[in-house]
Amino acid sequence: MLKNISLVVKALLCCGCGACVVICPGQCIQMNFAAKHNIPVVIKQCMECGKCLTVCSGMQLLAEIAETNKVGENITNAEFLACYVSKSADQGLQRSAASGGFITTLALHLLARKRIKGVVCVRSGPNKPTESEFFIAKTSEQIYQASGSRYSPASGCLPLKELLLLKGQYMLVGKPCDLAGIHLLEQNIAVLKERILVKVGILCHHTPFRTALQNLLQGYSLKITDVASLQYRGEGWPGSFCIELKSGENLVLPYRKAWNMYFSRLKYVPIRCLLCDDVFATYADIVVGDPWGEEFKAEKIGYSLTMLKNDKAVDIYNDLRGSDKIYDKKLVQSKIVSYQANLIKKVRAKRLWLIAYIILKHGLNIKVLASSVVTKYSFKEKVSIVKKFLILLRKRRQ
Ligand SMILES: Cc1cc2nc3c(=O)[nH]c(=O)nc-3n(C[C@H](O)[C@H](O)[C@H](O)COP(=O)(O)OP(=O)(O)OC[C@H]3O[C@@H](n4cnc5c(N)ncnc54)[C@H](O)[C@@H]3O)c2cc1C
Ligand code: SF4
Ligand code: SF4
Ligand code: SF4
Repeated sequence: MLKNISLVVKALLCCGCGACVVICPGQCIQMNFAAKHNIPVVIKQCMECGKCLTVCSGMQLLAEIAETNKVGENITNAEFLACYVSKSADQGLQRSAASGGFITTLALHLLARKRIKGVVCVRSGPNKPTESEFFIAKTSEQIYQASGSRYSPASGCLPLKELLLLKGQYMLVGKPCDLAGIHLLEQNIAVLKERILVKVGILCHHTPFRTALQNLLQGYSLKITDVASLQYRGEGWPGSFCIELKSGENLVLPYRKAWNMYFSRLKYVPIRCLLCDDVFATYADIVVGDPWGEEFKAEKIGYSLTMLKNDKAVDIYNDLRGSDKIYDKKLVQSKIVSYQANLIKKVRAKRLWLIAYIILKHGLNIKVLASSVVTKYSFKEKVSIVKKFLILLRKRRQ
């Protein structure tokens, strides 16, 4: 077996972050954007220097799996200096943003205050509205246009090659796995740290495969080429999935319907996401998600659940708070667990998913099964996980 990222891809543990592409000294790796999710491919003679593996969070997970007893224990131990629900005061952003528009408001504020030169964030692909791509937004218009969540594959480390050639400091937005790749790159490329003012992590249940959107469109007798523009989420909270068609017509589905019928179905969830337990983005300064709590059931505009991890984050947040650009309310940390019950439930099941993964990859392994702590789960939880696993196996074999 080659000593490069091919082994991580083969083990189904690649998240598509692109850190390996950035580090490879021979430019041997390219991303395949046509697969179910973004996958690196070794395109030319590899020197087997192993550098790509040193920045690969999938490789770290592979090592963790080899020591099965450690898996699934890193769940809700994150500590925050302060937590808020925050909402942008900008009414346009309230409509276009995913939650309360906190991330975009912060980025615009830091740019206006000249604390950053731009933001590494995600937009729809130029000329390919159904695709998503990370880029460096350098103007307020570009930052504004990149607001909203895109529930489709995007590789968070790819713009870092360009970032390394720039001057000044930048804000980085990414999923926990994007930020893990960036952190590993920082360990290897010292100058990268100087380019980064603040890292904002988004809470992430999973990134659905491209096939989720393709099948959604098919369900409405539409093709990718019929789409003029696409908003996964917007127009209020939790908002709507909106497609503007080239014909001039629109397809609008409530967020929950699009999510329940397509984006959250198990057959569209990468194995890597099932095994991911980095709920609160270990390498972020600020973490943002939705406050899925009873108190917000009647909410129509939306708040961002905003968690500050260190002094830098508090300083930056207080600077924004001093402006008139957000409304917010402070939260006690214990609220976070109840607002993110779904995400935490997924991570609690990680050990069982791991067992499923090992069976899927290596067949029935009694030693691994015996070493599992299946007793941690209630009977109901076990039945539900086994049921999901059987569905997964069936779908993967189709
Ligand atoms: C794949 C995915 C899964 C998520 N899962 C959960 C979840 O389980 N629970 C939860 O509470 N929240 C989840 N979120 C986060 C949530 O959807 C919002 O992104 C978050 O609350 C921030 O909202 P906001 O209004 O403050 O951000 P906005 O002001 O709307 O800004 C959003 C920022 O995120 C960037 N972005 C958009 N799509 C992506 C992407 N695919 N990868 C990286 N950056 C991106 C945009 O470029 C923009 O800078 C998920 C987001 C994504 C993209
Ligand atoms: S560095 Fe990222 S993209 Fe490359 S193999 Fe590892 S997880 Fe996949
Ligand atoms: S082992 Fe070295 S040369 Fe080969 S793909 Fe990885 S980084 Fe590139
Ligand atoms: S669940 Fe984890 S691995 Fe999957 S996209 Fe989200 S952060 Fe990345």
